[in-house]
Amino acid sequence: MSDISNEGGGFVVTKLNDLLNWSRLSSVWPLQFGIACCAIEMMASYASTYDLERFGVFPRASARQADVIIIAGTVTFKMAERIKLLYEQMPEPKYVISMGSCSNCGGPYWQHGYHVVKGVDRVIPVDIYVQGCPPRPEALIGGILELQKKIEGEQLINL
Ligand code: SF4
Repeated sequence: MSDISNEGGGFVVTKLNDLLNWSRLSSVWPLQFGIACCAIEMMASYASTYDLERFGVFPRASARQADVIIIAGTVTFKMAERIKLLYEQMPEPKYVISMGSCSNCGGPYWQHGYHVVKGVDRVIPVDIYVQGCPPRPEALIGGILELQKKIEGEQLINL
């Protein structure tokens, strides 16, 4: 939570932002976008051992109900169009987690993969990059926690 101060619009606005951010970071709903092997680790993150839902992260099947899209896997040029469309369907404020080397930079297809986009950030803006091939569930959880920290510091209400 922010300090109690008059900076950034005064006490009431600061507290309203804190309340808003607390509710948003406590219910980060991702649109899951598993498109290759990284998706298996993403699915494992929701299973009993890691239990991603304990952080308020509940997967959604519709872009219109999602705050964040997790791109988990290889982004081909054909798939890139769909990713852009889904991103545009998400309501603001919205976030993107890029999970794994393929999505971050093309992964093993970086040099010779003519069909692979060399990073999903060439298609949509990325907030958090999770490293690995594939990243373990702990790494994805780390990415979610990083996103929550980012949300906590935002100021949606500006007066
Ligand atoms: Fe598969 Fe590795 Fe690419 Fe993930 S980063 S989709 S594990 S090849």
